[in-house]
Amino acid sequence: MNLPNKVTIVEVGPRDGLQNEPVPIATETKLAMIAKLVEAGVTHIEATSFVHPQAIPQLADAAEVANQLPQHPNVIYSALVPNERGLDRALECGIKRIALFTAASDSFTKININMTVDESIKVFKPIVKRALSAGVTVRGYVSTCFVCPYEGPINEQRVLEVAKQLLDLGVDEVSISDTIGAAVPTDVTRTVSHLLGSIPLETIALHFHDTYGCGLANVYAGLQLGVTTYDSSAGGLGGCPYAPGASGNLATEDLVYMLDGMGIDTGISLDRIVEAADIIAKVLNKPLHSRQWQRIRSQCQA
Ligand code: MG
Repeated sequence: MNLPNKVTIVEVGPRDGLQNEPVPIATETKLAMIAKLVEAGVTHIEATSFVHPQAIPQLADAAEVANQLPQHPNVIYSALVPNERGLDRALECGIKRIALFTAASDSFTKININMTVDESIKVFKPIVKRALSAGVTVRGYVSTCFVCPYEGPINEQRVLEVAKQLLDLGVDEVSISDTIGAAVPTDVTRTVSHLLGSIPLETIALHFHDTYGCGLANVYAGLQLGVTTYDSSAGGLGGCPYAPGASGNLATEDLVYMLDGMGIDTGISLDRIVEAADIIAKVLNKPLHSRQWQRIRSQCQA
């Protein structure tokens, strides 16, 4: 079997992980978490989202976070941008990579961003054009690629159509997302194989949630097809306010544990990731979902 030697982890904790947390988290706490992620060796960090502050109050400090990000030559920060106003704000803060968000199902985008998928692509067109001309690269999320909470199973051809439209706009990476964590490895194999028939391997990232405990198994299915980019969140933080049943993102430390054991290089320290998760766990005052966080913290208390 031809597994990759090296994997890139896109840490989405500061944005995707925190957006659904009801407890307000101070800007300096977010920055402390991000600094620890950098110390851990993470090279791709989605730092915040330039959504309207009233839409997600937790991320209302997007500009403050973006303006104080610890600069490191190996680290690329991205920020989610929902519209041109969001792009303006991101550019003002010197963000060099933006992320756009759509889905493979209209029911999901209508509830989440109040547009059909086609409408979202139209909104993205000028955003991508402006971003690229400003030297800013673009990643695109395709949510509900396997199962939609409203429409059920999603056909792989639909996922391909949306991914292709994003790539045609000038997006360089599509994050194929299992928003409610319902996918099983055979779903990943089927959908990703189908994508690979039409789009380049290096444009595909996979984004799993661990709702049903299949997150790591789904990564393994992606690895078997050669996919080298995976999104995850320190501590397994996250969920989605518009996706009933979505529990946390796949935890970065659980992913790092598995990849370390398989001899696949991530460049990331598991212990430092757990420390990054701790910074948030203390504020939330609750235990985190990840197996590694629970294992390490229960040893500390024993
Ligand atoms: Mg997520």
